[in-house]
Amino acid sequence: MTPHPPPPVNYLRLSITDRCNLRCLYCLPAGEFDKLPSREILSYEEFLRLAQVAAAVGLQKIRVTGGEPLVRQGVVEFLRRLTRVPGVAKVCLTTNGVLLPDLAADIHAAGVRHLNLSLDTLDAGRYAALTGGDHLPRVLAGLERALRLGFQPLKLNCVVLQGINDQELLEIARLAKDDPLEVRFIEFMPLAAPERWQAHFLPMAEVRARLAALGPLIPVAADPTAGPARLYQPPGFRGRLGFISPVSSHHCPTCNRLRLTAAGRLRPCLFSAEEVDVKGPLRRGATDAELAQLLIGAARLKSRRPCPPGSALPAGSRAMRSIGG
Ligand code: SAM
Repeated sequence: MTPHPPPPVNYLRLSITDRCNLRCLYCLPAGEFDKLPSREILSYEEFLRLAQVAAAVGLQKIRVTGGEPLVRQGVVEFLRRLTRVPGVAKVCLTTNGVLLPDLAADIHAAGVRHLNLSLDTLDAGRYAALTGGDHLPRVLAGLERALRLGFQPLKLNCVVLQGINDQELLEIARLAKDDPLEVRFIEFMPLAAPERWQAHFLPMAEVRARLAALGPLIPVAADPTAGPARLYQPPGFRGRLGFISPVSSHHCPTCNRLRLTAAGRLRPCLFSAEEVDVKGPLRRGATDAELAQLLIGAARLKSRRPCPPGSALPAGSRAMRSIGG
């Protein structure tokens, strides 16, 4: 049988800042985190130029992430301009939602429709302990606003942490019962402190087993650019559940994405420290054709072999907040 060709790389994630207003246990590196000096972070003009070149070489879905993208000043205007870049077909945003009550309407008016919101617990005390911020009511208010504004798809990302939020999985899943939400459970990746991962990792098979109380999970076909979530709809649910298992089953053979860090480095694979600098060439006056070659070259560096299960990021690699989740 002929093997399937790898999917085209058609999805670019932009980490527009390494700053964040939360300190999530699963994201924070063990030691001190050095923020990038502002001049090292790409300007909005630079991101827009790269987005235009990227769209022209087929990267037509763009996600804005961080750090926390909504803490960067001028983000709404940036999103508005990004949605108008020729060739960009979809602009998506990933946020922790803390600033969403203030910004949701403007983000929607800017033309963004695809929203991912991180929400790992529905318990205010646990939320504060897990994220370092006492903001659960704001995030829930932001979710409410986003639902009312009609963002679609609207996805909730829940990183499952044994001993921290695993007793809440059914309650979190039920958020998709009456609302058109996709609640996505994500395996904790060993990106930060290894001892935290060892203490709190829970495999997705176990998560699914614990959701058996919802009834049989009926598989739902995903949009081909939607990424690695396996989607299901429990009986009587308006929304869907997604399972993302980056640790117990790597998605490398089907991965369709490139990441651009806040520092202007292309990252072909989350699980490899390999990066391609684009900021240097960009600031030295590279032409669009030269930048396009850097993007195409980075896409070719993507490994199509699955990493061994449980492989961690190599030592010395960046924290998730600089890579952009
Ligand atoms: N600040 C934004 C937010 O919280 O959604 C965007 C950036 S955050 C790095 C993006 C995503 O990365 C979050 O939804 C979180 O689920 C995921 N993430 C971060 N560290 C992770 C880890 N160690 N394992 C699994 N997912 C992780």
